Amino acid sequence: MKMHQVSDHCFAVINEKNRVCDANSGLINCGGGVVIDTQSDLAHARQMIEMFGKVWPAMPQRVINTHEDADHVWGNQLFKGAEIIAHRSVPERMKQVAEPKESQKLLHGVGRFLTRLVLKTLHPGLEAAGEQLLEDYNFDGIELVLPTTLFDTRYELNLEGKEVHLIYVGPCHQVGDTIIHLLEERVVFAGDVLFRQCTPMGWTGSYEKWFQCLDLLIELDPEVIVPGHGPLCGIEGAMEMKAYLQYVRDESRKCFDAGITSLEAAKKIEFGPYGEWRAPARLYMNVERAYREFRNEPPDAPWDSAATFDAIYQVAKAKGIEAEF
Ligand SMILES: [Zn+2]
Repeated sequence: MKMHQVSDHCFAVINEKNRVCDANSGLINCGGGVVIDTQSDLAHARQMIEMFGKVWPAMPQRVINTHEDADHVWGNQLFKGAEIIAHRSVPERMKQVAEPKESQKLLHGVGRFLTRLVLKTLHPGLEAAGEQLLEDYNFDGIELVLPTTLFDTRYELNLEGKEVHLIYVGPCHQVGDTIIHLLEERVVFAGDVLFRQCTPMGWTGSYEKWFQCLDLLIELDPEVIVPGHGPLCGIEGAMEMKAYLQYVRDESRKCFDAGITSLEAAKKIEFGPYGEWRAPARLYMNVERAYREFRNEPPDAPWDSAATFDAIYQVAKAKGIEAEF
């Protein structure tokens, strides 16, 4: 984890491993201090707070959650008394997708020899994902702390004359997707609308909506984009991710028309240049999303997470690479 200054008043904490749960956070160090996303567990959140403390000594008065996923909200409880701002959908969605109990159970299970063996037989992908998470994370003690200030389409903050625009862009990767734009500083905190040098994982939303959002990122013409996952970039990051999603959707269409399953399609589709990204076998999720659209299924059709991690694992094995999530 490293802190970078990205403009006069904007900072980013970047998780360099860039695997699942390695989310980034942001800080705006004026007007009471604003933190953007709060990390995946309490130890990482504390480390992030300590780093930001070097450039903003008081506890920030505001937190923004870019969306409802666990890796962006599980440090919320450490910001006692802060105003927590998010899209209106986020509190209810957090209860659905970010309840820590299942993840705590998974890591405890993987940590014990016998339960690990059982899990490995039943769900090899979920077990492998659990082992990977156990290398860096401990979900004990996490309590859901929900956003307190909710908005629908736009929300504006004025920090000592500096305008901060929260723009709702969901659902493209998740229901609550919000980007944060600082016009004068030419910075956008993109949340998980942008994954950089790692394969995107989209849960709820459509390809069209995601393309629109990436186009908006490019139109805003920031100098720096802080992605939800991966290193800092400019608008080339948004362009590259759009090209990836277009490539996956096109290849998926061919496979869908040929009548093969989404899992077989993910095994068949070449990674191409995107094989250099972290966790390339997460491709499966993007293929499955495309298939859901081809079948006219609703964008909020739920995911079976054990089956999803198992499918990613199988794709990695079929490609002869180590399973990474
Ligand atoms: Zn994330």
